[in-house]
Amino acid sequence: MTLAIKNGHLIDPASGISEPMDVLVEGPTVKQIGKDQSADELLDAAGCVVCPGLVDIHVHFREPGYEFKETIKTGSRAAAHGGFTSVVTMPNTNPPIDNAGMVEFTLRRAREVACIKIHPAACATKGREGRQMTEMAELKAVGAVAVTDDGADIESSWVMRRVLEYANMCRLTYLAHCEDASLADGGVMNEGFNSTKLGLPGLPKAMEEIMIDRNIRLAALTGAKIHIQHVTTAGGIEIIRRAKNSGVRVTCETAPHYWTLTDDAVTDFGTNAKMNPPLRELEDVEAVKNALADGTIDCVATDHAPHTFTEKDVEFQIAPFGVVGLETALALTITELVEPEVISIERAVELLTSAPAKVLGLPAGALEEGGPADITVFDPKAEWVVDPEDFESLSGNTPFAGRTVRGRVQATVCDGRIVYQRKRQP
Ligand SMILES: [Zn+2]
Repeated sequence: MTLAIKNGHLIDPASGISEPMDVLVEGPTVKQIGKDQSADELLDAAGCVVCPGLVDIHVHFREPGYEFKETIKTGSRAAAHGGFTSVVTMPNTNPPIDNAGMVEFTLRRAREVACIKIHPAACATKGREGRQMTEMAELKAVGAVAVTDDGADIESSWVMRRVLEYANMCRLTYLAHCEDASLADGGVMNEGFNSTKLGLPGLPKAMEEIMIDRNIRLAALTGAKIHIQHVTTAGGIEIIRRAKNSGVRVTCETAPHYWTLTDDAVTDFGTNAKMNPPLRELEDVEAVKNALADGTIDCVATDHAPHTFTEKDVEFQIAPFGVVGLETALALTITELVEPEVISIERAVELLTSAPAKVLGLPAGALEEGGPADITVFDPKAEWVVDPEDFESLSGNTPFAGRTVRGRVQATVCDGRIVYQRKRQP
């Protein structure tokens, strides 16, 4: 079987291509990139961008343990719907992914039920308790692509140093959720004017920045590769910028809600605007945008964190942290960054494809002859209204419901198979 994706505008940041081009797919691979391709099956991409399948290195698929929020199957469908063909799943499941058997379980489930590619990250410490290291060499041997205790930081600097040393020896990147637990304790939203007004306990920016700084210093000390997850503050970005300039092996990501919303959203959207780290202030949103444009922030990741309606339908203080993101990420990138000319469409595609793939060395994020046929086709001009009812995710906890956005996925192809295609409207 061959498939031709015709009449689209091809953007492949890895090779620097941005021009009208057809893509010919044969089986699971890209056979040819060029003009006037013909094939058994045709996918018309007129008016659309054709790019490598999107890559998200930070998602929570909740299996095992919390299958009522999301499963590997529903998470993969949400990913395909959002244009993603490769994701890295976080290990804070129940039980956590802290041994080889659990990594194998994730990969086996993925083979059985997922329509896209799942790359598991594994815990850095047993039970994510921040005390005893996991068997990282073994975890890597069975397919873990990174180690992390995401959801929390490692409190002890001594343990963190050992973790980074061992991860470095195993050539694994540590994904760092930076949070000083003692400073964050009890906080539910950004500490500032709004938290005072609402009478809610705050999460100061320092809780994040102290640990970004500590973790980077330990990375410098050990020579390890560290990736800072979900950076949200101007101060945190400044620390990372300085570290990069002085040669530390540090990369970082941010999520779409951090360049789209401030903590004002807590008043408007309630618990669907509750996540950790929390939404910050205008100066932070501006700093995030600038850092995406100048390359200080390496890539976009969604931190897709599904919770059910019932779990979120409670008082702000007791609601769980987290929002879903896979099905709105591309549109929020286009609407909030490309259309206002903060970044180019090519940079947007890079932030969602080759850049995240490069952070972890994943075999994804590029379109090349002979390479995997993981391809996303999206209409950058198409306008739509976010409606969680349309999500493939089991959960709909988004602060963007009802928001009009631009940029819609028309088709997602993974290993040459169309895993999502938008139905034509009558
Ligand atoms: Zn996190």
